[in-house]
Amino acid sequence: MKPKSENKLVLVDFDGTITKNDVGALLFDSFSKEKNKRIVSEWLKGKINSKECLQKECELIEITKTQLKNFALSQKIDEHFSHFVDLCKREKMNLVILSDGLDYYIKIILQKYHLEDIPFYSNTLRFAGKKLVPEFPYFERGCGNCGNCKKYHLKNLRRPEQKVVYIGDGFSDKCAIGEADFIFAKNDLKSFCEKEKIGYFKFKDFRDVILVFSREMETFGLIKSKIQKAKCKIAIQN
Ligand SMILES: [Mg+2]
Ligand SMILES: [Zn+2]
Repeated sequence: MKPKSENKLVLVDFDGTITKNDVGALLFDSFSKEKNKRIVSEWLKGKINSKECLQKECELIEITKTQLKNFALSQKIDEHFSHFVDLCKREKMNLVILSDGLDYYIKIILQKYHLEDIPFYSNTLRFAGKKLVPEFPYFERGCGNCGNCKKYHLKNLRRPEQKVVYIGDGFSDKCAIGEADFIFAKNDLKSFCEKEKIGYFKFKDFRDVILVFSREMETFGLIKSKIQKAKCKIAIQN
């Protein structure tokens, strides 16, 4: 029999979850001088989908490859994320990054921290001179609202009997969490879970996630069945 941990698929959002900043948001905020705010608010209100949002934001800015590379290189990740990656390796858990952002900066940031072995699924970016052209290889397979629907990837990657842990911070994670067995949430995703009465573990950084993983590893499989979903929120005391 395989050890319990091998039966886990760990899905992690990138922007604002692995990275300190929401890199995509910061990119468009700074390079459009906040002219993107109206577009983003249309997306948050549900008037446009995230694919349209990203397309419109890309149309607003001009940036060279070198500028974007330097911008990506200036970004930092959660100090404890690498330890979490080690934990996943040690426990043979299947770690995958899901992002509704762009592959170009994700690759650069992962390489910066020598984490390029972690598989990721995101939208892709092509340059047309100084213009950014986003492409959406998974859009057709998703829900129609996400550029890259994380729920599609969750269902596609999950093996039968595999428990899914989902870790995220924002609205682009909403689709996936309905299918996940354990949710780690902060910021907007946390508010969403509260509003929808979805059980979650709150976290500030990956130190909290590691703490819950080490503490709950043995009982993880029991949480959902023993406790009502809405009640399985466990406060993390530091
Ligand atoms: Mg995020
Ligand atoms: Zn979706």
